[in-house]
Amino acid sequence: MHEVWSDSTSGFHPASAPDYLPEPQLRELQLRRLKAVVRRCYDNVPLFRQRMDATNMRPDDVQSLDDLSRLPFTQKCDLRDTYPFGLFASPLSEVVRVHASSGTTGKPIVVAYTKEDLDVWTEVIVRCFAACGMHSGDIVQNAYGYGLFTGGLGAHYGAEALGATVIPVSGGNTDRQIMILRDFGVTAICCTPSYFIHLIERAKETGAGLRDLPLRVGVFGAEPWTEEMRAHIQKEAGIEAFDIFGLTEIIGPGVGIECRAHNGLHIFEDHFLPEIVDPESGTPRRDGEEGELVLTTLSKKAMPMIRYRTHDITRIKTGHCSCGRTIRRIERIARRSDDMLIIRGVNLFPSQIETVLLSIEGTTPHYQIIITRDKGLDQLEVQVEVTHELFSDTIGGLEQLRSRISHQLEIMTGLRMEVSLVAPRTIQRSEGKAKRVKDLRNAT
Ligand code: AMP
Ligand code: ZN
Repeated sequence: MHEVWSDSTSGFHPASAPDYLPEPQLRELQLRRLKAVVRRCYDNVPLFRQRMDATNMRPDDVQSLDDLSRLPFTQKCDLRDTYPFGLFASPLSEVVRVHASSGTTGKPIVVAYTKEDLDVWTEVIVRCFAACGMHSGDIVQNAYGYGLFTGGLGAHYGAEALGATVIPVSGGNTDRQIMILRDFGVTAICCTPSYFIHLIERAKETGAGLRDLPLRVGVFGAEPWTEEMRAHIQKEAGIEAFDIFGLTEIIGPGVGIECRAHNGLHIFEDHFLPEIVDPESGTPRRDGEEGELVLTTLSKKAMPMIRYRTHDITRIKTGHCSCGRTIRRIERIARRSDDMLIIRGVNLFPSQIETVLLSIEGTTPHYQIIITRDKGLDQLEVQVEVTHELFSDTIGGLEQLRSRISHQLEIMTGLRMEVSLVAPRTIQRSEGKAKRVKDLRNAT
């Protein structure tokens, strides 16, 4: 039976959260849960069982937390290869929700939650919001996208369980967002940091800044951001800005968050066990050393992840946090070890663009993605070379092709992007690894 810690009926007590468990107790809890989750995967997930068998490992071989490093990794491609439900460890009858995120090809990756998994998710989001100093009575504007993306619903139920008033406005429609911020007396907002910078800009344009509003807290994540952005946001909006981290494969938002010390993100390691490994060899690295973050879910039922390779580069911070939490912290995530781009909070792989181009006659696989930032919002341009025959076609023909590419790209990625057709052989050829992405966001 899963140990439910939060009790929304009897009130919320942040100080009794597992965030503050004495370390030996935390490690013991982790080991107990690790043994159970490995057993669960071995018994229910054929791919995991095969991999364990191939290394002659049995669930009972997990006797200490150090044994974690002997377990096989899980990768994004495992979710793609078993699409849609192949990694589920619960029967579909116990799955009460699914979410999805972009994969590297046209198919999304699918994740599942049982009722208990949703309780865990709600619990960690409550702990996140509590770490930001939020409480019942707060009015929370949730501008993360609702739908298959985990951001909207994830934050939503946590805010409700905290006892806050949630405004499920979802993303987009900036002027309406500003109106609601103002009229509803919003005290906390959740969205991507780049979208909030856009809100600041737009509010200024309409002649009314955000500084004089009751808005007090911003919970920003789903994409990398910087200390400079934080300083800008805090100054312009008069709020305290927190970095929240998560990924669909592990649960969604709520894997970790900053506390008010703003010195790294606490990982809720009673549910998500972090490791840092060498991004090339996969060899474990010690606390304090930089590498790729690998996460194991300790309590998930429907779709546990054993040693999931996040491709996020960070380090586990050593030493204790001044807030008193005993759960460890990671440094803010500034980059990835793979080519995944995050555009307005949406994951984009260059290979998705390539797949579309290869499926359309008249285009060539020579393309370049140019990312800039305009008033806080990411802008995408894809330059595509067309064949000689097409390039000498009528303007109307080219325009038709352009809008077809643009439409297909939007279907594939969920992102609107500007498409420019360029003459044959104008995109620079590279001698080594193709440089397809020009990310000018920090230069604009
Ligand atoms: P998704 O599964 O669509 O939520 O995307 C998850 C990925 O978004 C993570 O693996 C990170 O690369 C990125 N991400 C999420 N939150 C943050 C954050 N606070 N800072 C930096 N990157 C983040
Ligand atoms: Zn702290």
